[in-house]
Amino acid sequence: MILQKLAEGIRQQNWFTVFLEILIVVVGIFIGLQVDGWSELRQDRRDEQHYLDRLHDEILNAEKLSARLLDRRIERQGVAADILDAVFVDVERNSLTALECQTVGALHFFNIAVTGLSAVDELTASGRMGILQDTELRAALGALKQAHDATNMYIRIQNGVANDLTHLYPQLISVEAYSDDDLQEIYSRATCDLPAMRKNQAFLNDLSNNADAYDAYIRDGVSPWARQEKRVHDLIDGNLGIQHLEPEE
Ligand SMILES: [Zn+2]
Repeated sequence: MILQKLAEGIRQQNWFTVFLEILIVVVGIFIGLQVDGWSELRQDRRDEQHYLDRLHDEILNAEKLSARLLDRRIERQGVAADILDAVFVDVERNSLTALECQTVGALHFFNIAVTGLSAVDELTASGRMGILQDTELRAALGALKQAHDATNMYIRIQNGVANDLTHLYPQLISVEAYSDDDLQEIYSRATCDLPAMRKNQAFLNDLSNNADAYDAYIRDGVSPWARQEKRVHDLIDGNLGIQHLEPEE
């Protein structure tokens, strides 16, 4: 219809009609584009809310999966330092505590649930990270992905570097597993011979190696990852206006 009128206007050299018809087309296109833009924007806001809710669920789940082991893994780093002190420095001591002895046999354990966030993977794959308006959150999610990859790399590498001392030196450390009926879990208690450990250079080498590998795993892998996960959680809480009650002491 518009094209017909336009052609007729040109034929009759009625420039006012031509101008008017072109103006109608231009204004129509402009309004169409604006409406498209507005509805796209509204959809982005709806999607942003959906993804923030999902990210919150996923991060809660990730924290729950790693919480128990995370505390144990980080605590073990401090115990490793005490062990080195007892073995190499504090010659007055002639035995290790139960916790120290058990830790000697566990410094090659690196497993922990390092869970990724599938909502981030989806947003990245579809090139839609930009719908999250909080630039700080976007940056923090990127850093979390890096920390997550670094931790997985340390788990892989250190597993190949560290040795199972209970298997290599049964005369220096012996382990006995037992079932705890109250907690319904299998635990183990270890017995260590500290004076004999000090005289066995191969053991001292392997212990030093394990302690070093464990320290790097916590310092450069697990700790930065746990800190970043907490940071991301705080930012998501801020975006959603969520406040968690502090756990009771
Ligand atoms: Zn939260």
